[in-house]
Amino acid sequence: MSAATRSAPSKVALDAIKGVVGAKGVVEGEDAAPFLSEWRGRWPGEAAMIVCPASTEAVAAVVKICADHNIAITPQGGNTGLVGGQIPFGDEILLSLKRMRRIREIEPLNNTMTVDAGVILAEAQEAAKEAGRLFPLSIGAEGTCQIGGVISTNAGGVNVLRYGNTRDLVLGIEAVLPNGEVWNGLKRLRKDNTGYDLKQLLIGAEGTLGIVTGAVLKLYPLPAEKVTVCAGVKSPADAVALLSHAQNETGGAATSFELMTRICIDLVLKHIPNTRDPMGEAHAVYVLMEFSSGQKSGLRAQIEEMLESALNKNLIEDAVIAENEAQAGALWHIRHSMSEAINGEGLGARHDVSVATSDIPAFLEKAGAEVTRIAPGARVVAFGHIGDGNVHYDVVGPEGADPHALDDKRAEIESAVYDVIGAFNGSISAEHGVGRHRRDTLAKRKNPVELEMMRAIKKSLDPQGIMNPGKML
Ligand code: FAD
Repeated sequence: MSAATRSAPSKVALDAIKGVVGAKGVVEGEDAAPFLSEWRGRWPGEAAMIVCPASTEAVAAVVKICADHNIAITPQGGNTGLVGGQIPFGDEILLSLKRMRRIREIEPLNNTMTVDAGVILAEAQEAAKEAGRLFPLSIGAEGTCQIGGVISTNAGGVNVLRYGNTRDLVLGIEAVLPNGEVWNGLKRLRKDNTGYDLKQLLIGAEGTLGIVTGAVLKLYPLPAEKVTVCAGVKSPADAVALLSHAQNETGGAATSFELMTRICIDLVLKHIPNTRDPMGEAHAVYVLMEFSSGQKSGLRAQIEEMLESALNKNLIEDAVIAENEAQAGALWHIRHSMSEAINGEGLGARHDVSVATSDIPAFLEKAGAEVTRIAPGARVVAFGHIGDGNVHYDVVGPEGADPHALDDKRAEIESAVYDVIGAFNGSISAEHGVGRHRRDTLAKRKNPVELEMMRAIKKSLDPQGIMNPGKML
């Protein structure tokens, strides 16, 4: 049987699944709603059944029944994904990992932690901290998203500059393959050159190649000192130059390097209560930087020296250093409120793109010219992890316009922005993934040879196409 011949799951199959997970493992009635809609209400979904197995063996048994009956499966973690990959279309079963929340083992000597896929990211961070270690992945949704979800989307976040994406933070994976077989790849090795690195196939696969049930994560020493700085600069080009300056002068101590243009600050002040301008005077561009060190002292002096030389070189106009955690928290609150603040301005056109860091200024200029040509008066709200070349490039309507002002221009704006991204050999999805949202764009814009390789991998691991159909590929 193939995806083309798939029909609604039979009662026999659904009863068999229920038999595996038990009554506690099935979500029904009013309880189903939160699983079938993402936080912004986009892509409302339907499912033949919502199941929450409590163990890897139960996940395997459910998948085996699905494989035998050609039933499609949408895996779901914390349901914080931004591209609709976790929402089923109707005839699938939704398989949630929410009951698999065990921290299996923490080994400080190896700097590793082995966890169930359903562990919430913030709980994993906390468990590592209690063991005197750092799990550095940090994203705005960390109180809700799960380890299986961040692995399946290769989540990025604010510490990629120092520690890398999720891809760099996973040593081993346990997964249930589309035929129901369990792959135990829970290795704790830093070196293993025995052929293809198969775990990397599952990382960023968005649930299209199997269900991640467990993982070995990399841990780091806890930083002894942290310094948070907000600097005002004249232009994105100066922000990029400041990154290089800051890394050179501090021996690469930057963990985060985030850019916000002035309109970002204005929108946060307008839409988010209890926020205030981070600096006395307005600047065209703001850079929020965090530095950390394993040493117990000396970092602050090093940062002050670095800022003074940046001032002397005209790389910055002004800077404030957070004096305590509350001040640092207030600066980060502005950055983390960006999505909500932009929502307050209507739907607009949203992009999550990446280019080489040095290309960011030229990308912003060229994309901005395209936006102005297509929708005069539209406002570009650009912010993001520029230390990683990742810009959240959002376009909203003119000041005071109807929230739907850009509806008829959205497709044209997106296409133009992606053309500019193509010219820079960049990516149309830097960290949020493809899901339903960018599936057609991926098909149009990904290198055809790469697309063929992806399809070949999918076909070989999931010949029936039961794992998260209609997403990504
Ligand atoms: P879900 O949303 O449930 O699922 C996401 C995808 O992974 C789906 O395709 C799903 O099928 C698949 N999946 C989930 N669990 C499994 C599993 N166990 N096995 C196989 N497939 C699975 N993302 C970033 O990268 N960086 C950010 O800075 C960032 N900030 C965010 C801030 C906010 C406020 C929000 C709402 C989202 C943000 N995101 C960010 C996006 C989102 O949080 C991430 O994509 C996250 O990794 C999703 O995890 P989740 O557990 O919620 O997965």
